[in-house]
Amino acid sequence: MFLEKKKIIIAIDGYASTGKSSQAKLLANFFNYSYIDSGAMYRAVTYYALQQEPKGEINFQLLLKSLVNIKIDFLYTIKGQQTILNGKNISKKIRSLEVDSQVSNVASNEHIRFFLTTQQKMMGINKGIIMDGRDIGTVVFPSAECKFFLTASPEIRAKRRYNEQLKFGIKNSYNEVLQNIINRDYMDTSREVNPLKKAKDAIAIEVSDLSLYEVFQLLKTEIVSKLKN
Ligand code: C5P
Repeated sequence: MFLEKKKIIIAIDGYASTGKSSQAKLLANFFNYSYIDSGAMYRAVTYYALQQEPKGEINFQLLLKSLVNIKIDFLYTIKGQQTILNGKNISKKIRSLEVDSQVSNVASNEHIRFFLTTQQKMMGINKGIIMDGRDIGTVVFPSAECKFFLTASPEIRAKRRYNEQLKFGIKNSYNEVLQNIINRDYMDTSREVNPLKKAKDAIAIEVSDLSLYEVFQLLKTEIVSKLKN
């Protein structure tokens, strides 16, 4: 573990399934920082909305009225970060293809983004935090000391996601997963409010040909140099 008095904010943005969360977890452990998976918050709101409308369509009018009733917490256990929605552990449920296919639609709504980014900004008030997502370096923490932007080919990302879903006991075909990744990339980069894009001062890393450990080493080295300056 790396112990340093100076605390900074680390933002990891990038495309779906580039390994942002895995890196953020490893780094949080190494630097003894807290870790927030902002995607899980958008997924939790999407799951809530799907519960409201079991036909699988999002009723935005109803959802926006219900935002006051949505409380998202994170619990840290040996199984990793658990996402809690109004007291219930929904960590597995938010990884379903149903949530996958609606989350970018929900995340394109400006009121929902405001609702979540306000909470995310508060989480960074004492620094010493690593957050991963799509708009962390551009909107949530534009003054973060360390920003990364991860990219990889859609096929490599789909393979990762397919294996991750299998671990959760979720079985979808590789083609379904790939199609969902391509759709989400399009929606996340083309939406009007806070689209996914690299912050000017973010370090871009293409991870297609790198192992988890190699990416970790690259990020860690950058962060250590920021902490020492
Ligand atoms: O990171 P993850 O793939 O779980 O995020 C799910 C979805 O949530 C993304 O595809 C995106 O639509 C949305 N999201 C976002 N802004 C963030 C994090 C996630 O719009 N900061």
